[in-house]
Amino acid sequence: MSKEKFDTLRIHGGYDPAEHNNSVQIPIYQTAAFTLGTAAQGDAVASGVVTGSYTYSRVGNPTVATLEKRIAALDGGVDAVAVGSGMAAITYAILNVAEGGGRIIAPYDIYGAALDEFETLFPKFGIDFDLVEDINDIATIKKLIKPDTKAIYAESVSNPTTEISDIEKLAEVAHNADIPLIIDNTFSTPYLFQPIKYGADIVVYSSTKGISGHGNVVSGLIVDGGNFDWDNGKYPQFQENEYSLKNVNFPKNYSFSNVFGKQAYIKRIRMKYVRLMGAVLGPVDAYLELLGLETITERIDKEVATSLKIAQFLADNPHVKKVYYSGLPGADQYDLAQKYFPRGIGTVLSFELDGTSQQTDQVIDATHLFLYLPNVGDSRSLIVNPSKITHREIPEERRIKSGVTDQLLRLSIGLEDADDLINDLNSAINATFK
Ligand code: PLP
Repeated sequence: MSKEKFDTLRIHGGYDPAEHNNSVQIPIYQTAAFTLGTAAQGDAVASGVVTGSYTYSRVGNPTVATLEKRIAALDGGVDAVAVGSGMAAITYAILNVAEGGGRIIAPYDIYGAALDEFETLFPKFGIDFDLVEDINDIATIKKLIKPDTKAIYAESVSNPTTEISDIEKLAEVAHNADIPLIIDNTFSTPYLFQPIKYGADIVVYSSTKGISGHGNVVSGLIVDGGNFDWDNGKYPQFQENEYSLKNVNFPKNYSFSNVFGKQAYIKRIRMKYVRLMGAVLGPVDAYLELLGLETITERIDKEVATSLKIAQFLADNPHVKKVYYSGLPGADQYDLAQKYFPRGIGTVLSFELDGTSQQTDQVIDATHLFLYLPNVGDSRSLIVNPSKITHREIPEERRIKSGVTDQLLRLSIGLEDADDLINDLNSAINATFK
């Protein structure tokens, strides 16, 4: 693990100009394939005896590799893999532990498409979910763990109600059952929270959001802390021989676990899922993400400060029934916010309007600075009504239980002037309730 600190790693992590013609910025290696040299070199590269060489951009690309190394360094992981979207990251992270069948424990209160996938798609592949109302209800989680449970999954800060998962407790219960803890850290970004430090095993991101930070790329990342024992008997996929790994160094036991040791999890995603299912990230997208990452500290510090001001403004507004921002002093989980998020819980907050769903639509239509769209983590401020857009696929009764009513509005706070944003919301609410 690197000794350098976050602000140094976000600029330099995983990149040495000397390896790229002394180019200050990582070049965009816009190529599908890489020449293999002689036939003997080709054989050595393809068999994995020589590492650090590239063959084909679905399997690896130097621009993308820089992003992968940088995010692993920022999160304190041993390795990372970039994929084509946050949903691909979630999908591959789960398939890699539960392929062939099994169960995963997760909360209901997560991103709508992830919940939709867990409830309606993964079961068709033999992976079933035990969904819970409260992921911090450790007694219930313990009871739900069965012999075929393969992982616990949660968001560090949930979409859209900013519920904080108690990572240390979840890691303890997972590890006592010999299963990994997978954390979607999208809302926090590695700047605000590093789940591996608190015991999480695998971290997934929609790096479409705060990591890239400018709303100009769709991408996902998976990071491995390297501490989980995939040889514990529950994950035979890591122990079976993988023909493509057979080489002069590994003539007999050429399983992912034996060949790659602590890096087995990510290598397996790269070689089985990215290579075979193909949700690869392109080099231009990786470049944009690396550029966005260079300013993550300054962006997120400002956006968090503005988010707090806006949460306070909304909490004091007579037309707002409830504010969902766990970082607000007095919020239900403020103690967890202080423990895990000393720099703030994030740049996304939600609020429930004290009005009708028509009035909620009116507020959306009356805002000017807040752009109405389904994304978060942009440098522009955004507004969305989750019940109709981001969580539309969740049955009404279910989403209302998680707080996603028709009056709920989610905000993602950007880099505009805080007073201008507050004025925009204030006049939209006043025009609606005049
Ligand atoms: N995880 C969270 C918490 C999200 O908010 C999202 C998207 O909004 C995703 C995952 C999916 O990411 P993507 O849109 O990059 O596939």
